[in-house]
Amino acid sequence: MKALRLQATNSTGPGAIDSSVTVRSKNSSTDFENPRVELEDVPLPTLAPNDLLLKVQFCGLCGSDFHMTENHKGRMAYPGLTQLPVTIGHEFSGLVVGYGNGTNERVKKAFPLQLPVTSEEMVWCGECPACRSGHLNHCEQLEELGFTRNGAHAEFIAVPAKLCWSLADLESRHGSSIALKMGAMVEPYAVSYRALFQGAHRSQWMPGLKILLVGAGPIGLAALDLALLGGALLVDVLEQRSDRKDFALELGARSALFPEQWREATGQYDWIIDAAGATDLCLEVAKDRLAIGGTICAIARSASSAPLDAEVLITKNARIVGTQGHSGESTFGKVIELMAHQKIRPLHLLRRIISLEAAVLRLKNQEKCEGKILVSPSGGGLE
Ligand SMILES: [Zn+2]
Ligand SMILES: [Zn+2]
Repeated sequence: MKALRLQATNSTGPGAIDSSVTVRSKNSSTDFENPRVELEDVPLPTLAPNDLLLKVQFCGLCGSDFHMTENHKGRMAYPGLTQLPVTIGHEFSGLVVGYGNGTNERVKKAFPLQLPVTSEEMVWCGECPACRSGHLNHCEQLEELGFTRNGAHAEFIAVPAKLCWSLADLESRHGSSIALKMGAMVEPYAVSYRALFQGAHRSQWMPGLKILLVGAGPIGLAALDLALLGGALLVDVLEQRSDRKDFALELGARSALFPEQWREATGQYDWIIDAAGATDLCLEVAKDRLAIGGTICAIARSASSAPLDAEVLITKNARIVGTQGHSGESTFGKVIELMAHQKIRPLHLLRRIISLEAAVLRLKNQEKCEGKILVSPSGGGLE
């Protein structure tokens, strides 16, 4: 089958990585050089008991995909966990087409053949101290589909059933094609849902908040959509790309400025949401514009660190919080229900549907756009 494969050179270990060597890194931007992505022919996935085999229908191109394939001064731009070589792609929908040997009947009944599903990306163990205290997103033995295990920019993917969510209700309300497209956008929405409503700082969210959103990529736009649903009084946006600024305004932002124009925004913000990995900018803006008792919420990873002047926290009784992932607490289930009841607008974020061949070119050219791009490995739904 066809798959988008990511390789690199290991700067601290065996050098070139190919299919005979795998290398794992918790900080890929330090350990990997010259990332390379190619469309390759690979064997069908192998399945463990209680794994579902999915025929991938749509898989989103995420900022992480661009960062994993971006050569930043010779190094991989993505700072998180990877294990190379790997098939990338982690926000997807698919149809159940098979099961691992030994899969129990309960799983087969819950996920019958041809059922449309989406899947969480974080593969938590359920046994380590973090998992057993309910922090699945911080599992000590975490694997990630599309990062350390083969992902869904491919014709097929193997996924543990415990990560899968049925899209049958979405399908019955909106038809198969829309359900499968929305299904591939549950993951980015779930990341933003968790950041706004479910982290340890959940009690800080309330209707009437004034919000500054830094970054209007897909995660930022999902956060905008959810913030408005959650009763935000206003959302102002800082974004480098003018097409994304326009898009944010279309989706309901009160204003959209280039980051260097932030002093032109008026008033104080209860929340500053970092959906761009722009920690330094958020801290600078916070000194002047974070309201007393305010929250800086980091969603996006950053390849660089920023010095923190604790004065801003002390004088404003403020907090900096971060969240990772989307597992546990039925985050996927909540997002799927919001989609089914048309409370959020994933299809408004969708800009293009492209083939695997077009996706590899986009990644090589680092050609992003103003909304979400879905990849269709089977060629269905291409525009
Ligand atoms: Zn992503
Ligand atoms: Zn665990």
